[in-house]
Amino acid sequence: MQLQPTASHFVDGVYVEDTAGDVIDVIYPATGEVIAKVHAATPAIVEQAISSAKRAQKEWAKMTGTERGRILRRAADMIRARNHELSMLETFDTGKPLQETLVADATSGADALEYFGGLAATLTGEHIPMGEDWVYTVREPLGVCVGIGAWNYPTQIACWKGAPALACGNAMIFKPSETTPLCALKVAEILVEAGLPAGLYNVVQGMGEVGGALVNDPRVDKVSLTGSVPTGKKVYAAAASQMKHVTMELGGKSPLIVFEDADIENAVGGAINGNFYSSGQVCSNGTRVFVHKDIKEKFLARLAERVQGAVLGDPQDEATNFGPMVSERQMNIVLGYIEQGKKEGARLICGGERVDMQGYFLAPTVFADVTDDMVIAQEEIFGPVMAVLDFEDEAEVIARANATEFGLSAGVFTRDLSRGHRVIGQLEAGSCFINSYNDAPVEAPFGGVKASGVGRENSKEAIQHYSQVKSVYVRMGDVEAAF
Ligand code: NDP
Repeated sequence: MQLQPTASHFVDGVYVEDTAGDVIDVIYPATGEVIAKVHAATPAIVEQAISSAKRAQKEWAKMTGTERGRILRRAADMIRARNHELSMLETFDTGKPLQETLVADATSGADALEYFGGLAATLTGEHIPMGEDWVYTVREPLGVCVGIGAWNYPTQIACWKGAPALACGNAMIFKPSETTPLCALKVAEILVEAGLPAGLYNVVQGMGEVGGALVNDPRVDKVSLTGSVPTGKKVYAAAASQMKHVTMELGGKSPLIVFEDADIENAVGGAINGNFYSSGQVCSNGTRVFVHKDIKEKFLARLAERVQGAVLGDPQDEATNFGPMVSERQMNIVLGYIEQGKKEGARLICGGERVDMQGYFLAPTVFADVTDDMVIAQEEIFGPVMAVLDFEDEAEVIARANATEFGLSAGVFTRDLSRGHRVIGQLEAGSCFINSYNDAPVEAPFGGVKASGVGRENSKEAIQHYSQVKSVYVRMGDVEAAF
């Protein structure tokens, strides 16, 4: 498979290169091998990206929603037809097992393009009668949008930001994480093959400073970031200084609460999905698993048994269901937290170490008897480390679940439906689950409260964040004035 892209960037409808930019090695996390090299964008590349987006957006916004949507839906079909190849690329970029990428990455990107492609023709204003006068509203695009991605879902993030932006008549300039630069280039290539005019979806590579250059350019109207809270604070502040629109999809330390009447098998399944999918590198993970003390040991015993089902190995082997960390750096960060958990006196149920094989593999790790004051219960680890905490009553667990700066997700397992709704209603989180965990269909809004972010991706809600409303008062009679 050809992993070296034609060139580092995709600008104004074509691949472009500028070898003056710093070299970024693309490393396959399952082996540590360099599989491709790209260059960070130079100021010249950033300029080309912004000026082509600015030019192209004006024409794009004049097209009808049906025409725009048709192109996005065609791109969705092409992505589905090429799912295997794109999933392989995602696996090389991130190390996630093919078993996962075949169903979760390009496919969810295609879902976003199809969904927002369908919505494009429905974006209208309203008519507000005012007696014989009236007001009408027009839903307008914002202009040039910048998307900045994290490394855990490079294809999905490129589409989740691009699809609603383009549906609303904007242009998108996307900067992938330097750790996973390959997938977004394919998204750009496919969009152009599907008929997207040049300049509307540009991809520029680079580290934080390239993101910073884009965010600070006065021609950029909106910034959507998926990343950590510290980066979010910086990018939000930079955008605010020029009064730009933002969407911030940031980190979390989400609670997953298992009541004593829960179906244990399902609760264990939810905890596994909410901690070990993508080797735990998912922002919405339920990493604080509060289990009622009456069922704690039963829960832990079943969890330990089921974790034995993790198959670590070659991510391209479809039997593998647990891949490496995305990078050596991330592996070392997570190992540091595992050591911290041991030092703090949490009870290690399983895992707790690097696996003795090629690549950045960590064993799925469960700590029990975790208390709220431990670092592993407070900080986002972004790896396969589950913290199990005990609780006794509902009010207590709600207060403890909310005692965090984060507010991305929350889950409840119980057979008592009124309790399920009552508890979810009191949890401070944007994306919640009852008797499930980590489902993220494009039809549902996704995003956090508190430090986990502002704005929403996916669903009709995303339209609010990629468009603005102009209101026009129309007077039919004479204008009254004081003098
Ligand atoms: P970072 O916050 O380190 O980086 C996110 C992106 O921002 C990267 O592309 C990075 O570039 C870029 N960046 C860094 N500094 C700046 C800056 N000053 N101006 C503009 N751009 C900048 O996050 P990671 O990539 O390490 O991803 C992990 C984090 O993302 C986790 O904390 C996780 O919770 C969060 N996340 C949130 C999700 C959500 O939807 N809420 C989904 C997935 C992840 P580069 O890294 O190339 O330097």
